[in-house]
Amino acid sequence: MSDPSAPLSKALPSSALRVGGLVPFTVTDYPGALAAVVFCQGCPWRCSYCHNPHLIPSQGEHPLDWLAISEWLETRRGLLDAVVFSGGEPTAQPALLKAITATRAQGFLIGLHTGGAYPRRLQTLLPHLDWIGLDLKASPAGYTRVTGVADSEIGAFEALALIQRAGVPFEVRTTIHGALTPPKELQALAAILNERGVTRWVLQPFRAQGCDNEMLRARAGEAVVLDEALLQTLQAFVPHIDVRR
Ligand code: SF4
Repeated sequence: MSDPSAPLSKALPSSALRVGGLVPFTVTDYPGALAAVVFCQGCPWRCSYCHNPHLIPSQGEHPLDWLAISEWLETRRGLLDAVVFSGGEPTAQPALLKAITATRAQGFLIGLHTGGAYPRRLQTLLPHLDWIGLDLKASPAGYTRVTGVADSEIGAFEALALIQRAGVPFEVRTTIHGALTPPKELQALAAILNERGVTRWVLQPFRAQGCDNEMLRARAGEAVVLDEALLQTLQAFVPHIDVRR
């Protein structure tokens, strides 16, 4: 198979990784590497700013065949450096471990985008990962407001601790919107990141594209203004902050 976008709707074995999308080439999803991104289907959270809401249900309407993608990756050896498993929440799927180990055996670096919803499963994945983008959505007190799920902060901050203990390179990313993560909330999270020894932080201003929440789209103008004063306040806690627009 040479065209991964031409696939792939067919009956899949229930043990296969459920995939809802594929980006065959990107330079922005794994630091310093040419990568493909596999968008895994399913997420237990309901972030109102989600820009991939079609990936939230455990079964997608247009599934892609993971085995066909894996065969296509075989043709990308030497052309791509890395494969990033994103979502949705990729760690929601028990099949992720097998997919990751097979892809790594093909010679690719493995990246993972996760919110940390399943820290026990993440722990089993850590020895097989080369880089992690961890979405931390708010301070613990503000988590449910963002994810719509009670106690979701428990897994997320446990995931941070597990990643730090394992020594896998990672970055912490936070999406910001004035209605969900106002400056006071960002300051509270910055203080916690400081306590946890996090020194690099990526802030991603809300993008309306793909978001199906009308209130957030209508209030996009309230997106937090990351002016010098606010950045300096946050940098007092986390010295290296990138704003990724
Ligand atoms: S964790 Fe990510 S995929 Fe899941 S609802 Fe939130 S933004 Fe969407």
